[in-house]
Amino acid sequence: NQLIIDKSKCEAARTHLPSFDRNQLKHGIVHLSVGNFHRSHLAYYMDILASEHNQTDWGIVGIGVRSFDKPMSTVMKAQHGLYALVTKGADENDVNVRIISSLIDYIFAPDEPENALAVLLHPDTKIVSMTITESGYDLDMNNVDIQHDLKNSDKPKTVFGFIVHALDARRRANEKPFTVMSCDNVQQNGEVTKRCILQFAKGLNNPQLTEYIETQVTFPSAMVDRITPGTTDADREYVRSRCGIADGWPVITEPFVQWVIEDSFCNGRPPLELLSSSPYNVLLTEHVEAYECMKMRLLNASHTSMCYLGYLMGYTYIHEIMLDKQIEIYIEQLMNIEVTPTLPPVPGIDLENYKRTLIERFSNPHIKDTALRVCMDGASKFPKFLVPTIVEQLKRGNNPHFCALSVGAWIRYLGGYDEQNKPIVLQDALAVELKLSELAAKTKPGAKQILSISQIFATLGENPQFIEAVERVVQLLYEVGSKETLKRWIKEAP
Ligand code: NAD
Repeated sequence: NQLIIDKSKCEAARTHLPSFDRNQLKHGIVHLSVGNFHRSHLAYYMDILASEHNQTDWGIVGIGVRSFDKPMSTVMKAQHGLYALVTKGADENDVNVRIISSLIDYIFAPDEPENALAVLLHPDTKIVSMTITESGYDLDMNNVDIQHDLKNSDKPKTVFGFIVHALDARRRANEKPFTVMSCDNVQQNGEVTKRCILQFAKGLNNPQLTEYIETQVTFPSAMVDRITPGTTDADREYVRSRCGIADGWPVITEPFVQWVIEDSFCNGRPPLELLSSSPYNVLLTEHVEAYECMKMRLLNASHTSMCYLGYLMGYTYIHEIMLDKQIEIYIEQLMNIEVTPTLPPVPGIDLENYKRTLIERFSNPHIKDTALRVCMDGASKFPKFLVPTIVEQLKRGNNPHFCALSVGAWIRYLGGYDEQNKPIVLQDALAVELKLSELAAKTKPGAKQILSISQIFATLGENPQFIEAVERVVQLLYEVGSKETLKRWIKEAP
């Protein structure tokens, strides 16, 4: 099961093989929930620092926190953390392959919680990073696992349990704390993470711990970017036949990568300024909000707007959706007319160029990002990606016509059947918990009840004009289908 490399094919495919001694790497970073994005982003950056800049303090130990991480655990353990990262540009000759070797160990916490805690307590660990998806921050103190973690400091089950109990142990041992670094698409992800950590810590009724976290731990906010789909068997076969690498879980991604992060690390950090130039695009700043806002309201909101409609139109991949001329018009109008006026100035960024690049990135046919991946967790994505724009536009007395289409398409999708009457399998923990599918099916084409869920839609359920617009979208989608709805909606734009 090890990563097996056929060197002659690797050379032909110009594969970058590890060029440093992994045994020299210390685990400066422990990453919770190792998914594909972590492996295309932070692990890639740390690999560059080790191989191109001889930085040996920033190896990574990955921890799989949930039982779902068992398959990743099996592969990463067998391959000693090594895997192939393949970047594919829009031009089919623009392919680069790199064996990433910064992930020096992997711990599957459900089987070995004591090992996970031990590495979190180790003085070499300076940063604990995480990618737990947008929904991971919807902390529910009544959740059984959270309740378990409040009572069991030696065998946590959740990310928050591990982090807080480890911080407490470091406090008691007079050890420096670690920086807690979120790499998820959540606006002010540092602040949001800090709130979750403090909320959990308060449940332990330990004022010294709370004070320690409040005063000594830092939570840098960051904007992270690199479109990274899930891995398919076709990707495994591609890596095997074209690059000569037998890899159980390679990562395919786009060439573009970006990381804008607050320079706020309580126990040291990698020399990220070494990665400031293109193609790495790392920026250390005191003011990350404008970049986060730009990325979430343009990139993530566009993704969230096109995926449900595109899925209903019968498309499988994001690039197919984007190549539909009507969708391109819709996304451009959404970005230009509704989102851009709500954005603060973003230092050093030409917004027109940024938006053009987004359309090109969405259209990349080689990374094969699926609509279904982007459709996941809509209930956690709408409040972060689209609702702020809608609220802002309504406050200004404007009609967010295209945002209404995005919301209506999601509500139609929640109805549970596509336009061929095939069931849609909803991958959305919060939507399931809130029984949104049942609600969408029961109230169709009404949208008021769903829009009144303030956890998702803030105050939008109190705005009759917006409710009416969304209900018209849902009604049209049921009556005339997605293609015709889109055509009419573009024609009716104010
Ligand atoms: P993935 O499915 O490959 O991995 C997700 C990981 O998160 C898994 O280890 C899973 O077990 C874990 N997880 C899910 N819910 C969790 C929870 N509630 N608590 C703890 N762990 C949880 O997904 P990915 O592509 O790595 O994306 C993960 C996140 O990274 C995204 O949700 C997003 O916030 C951020 N991100 C992804 C991309 C991308 O293009 N994939 C780009 C930018 C940012």
